[in-house]
Amino acid sequence: MHCIICNEARGDIISMETVDRIRFELDGVGLTEAIHSCPTCGYTCLHPGIPASTLEAYYTNQSRWPSETIAHREQAELIHRYMRENQIPKVMDIGAYDGRFLREMARIGASELYGVEPDMSIEPDYYRFETIELALAHLRPNSIDILSMGHVFEHLQDPFRVLEQVKELLVPGGLLLVEVPNLEDPQVQIVPYWTPFHHSYFTPTTLSYILEVAGFQMQAQALTGYRSVRMLARNFSNPVPNWDQAPPSFYARAGIDQYLLEREIFLDDLARRLGALQSDKLAIFGTGDHTYWLLNEFPGLLESTVCFLNSDTTKQGYWLDRGPVFSPEDCPDEVDTIICSSYDSQDEMAQAVGKRAFLLYDDVRAYDVWMGEENGV
Ligand SMILES: [Zn+2]
Repeated sequence: MHCIICNEARGDIISMETVDRIRFELDGVGLTEAIHSCPTCGYTCLHPGIPASTLEAYYTNQSRWPSETIAHREQAELIHRYMRENQIPKVMDIGAYDGRFLREMARIGASELYGVEPDMSIEPDYYRFETIELALAHLRPNSIDILSMGHVFEHLQDPFRVLEQVKELLVPGGLLLVEVPNLEDPQVQIVPYWTPFHHSYFTPTTLSYILEVAGFQMQAQALTGYRSVRMLARNFSNPVPNWDQAPPSFYARAGIDQYLLEREIFLDDLARRLGALQSDKLAIFGTGDHTYWLLNEFPGLLESTVCFLNSDTTKQGYWLDRGPVFSPEDCPDEVDTIICSSYDSQDEMAQAVGKRAFLLYDDVRAYDVWMGEENGV
């Protein structure tokens, strides 16, 4: 059996190792599962996993669930800090149950509440879909602003497929909250953590890795008081990348340790270069993934950002976070520095801003941002 994360990320076939076996009782029937763990990234799962029909019967009857304490208010408060000012988001909760998380989101301004909930005995006060597939069939693609999966991810046998569906639902830049039990928590062995319904077992490292490989950008992560790890990530690329046809990626050439190391070095260097700028009249060229990334990593930049520039006329006239989007020609004279968030856009920027920029602005610099696939070793 191969590691799904390494296989997806590196194109490598990394075989999982059997580290233990565990015996469960399920409706009075004994069941033995092997615990498989990846020697490269640490992803851990059960093998062979319980059959889909058993899962379906289980998830359509939530009354069988042990009552779990999940900090819905904490989750909503974390999300709130990453929402745009005065944003009225459309929110979806996968595994919505009786809507307790969605009610917390309504308190902080959510307008439309959707839930995926297979247990039809629940009478929801949100708009319910029985499955993610039905949600995808009924909603416009890229129409959900915030999507939550609290204590859902560990139940999935194919987390990548679900992340692709989530990307299809989320707007570009939309927020994804994931919370799972933390395999590194020393208490996981003494609580009802190992169950046949928990198929995948994550550490903070493997969870952030799988999210980044699937095209999400980490915003915040925390260990909770519930032996869990909570992560908030942003939907980074759109449309969904076609992994089969993608050229060999950064991840194909470097493992997770290399990835984390390179990323840290890159961030340190970028922080140093941005810190040396000494400008409080910035414009940022571009309103896409690179700019989202830059502002998420360096939110302090917003304080000195006068506006955003984009030569795409459909983007002009809107606000991105806290700044208006102008055409490059309309860049206000007070701007003394333009940050280009991608080396790829340098030529486009030079052309769009024209000679005027290089004459009027003291300092036109280009900054690339860390996008693993593009800046490989
Ligand atoms: Zn692996």
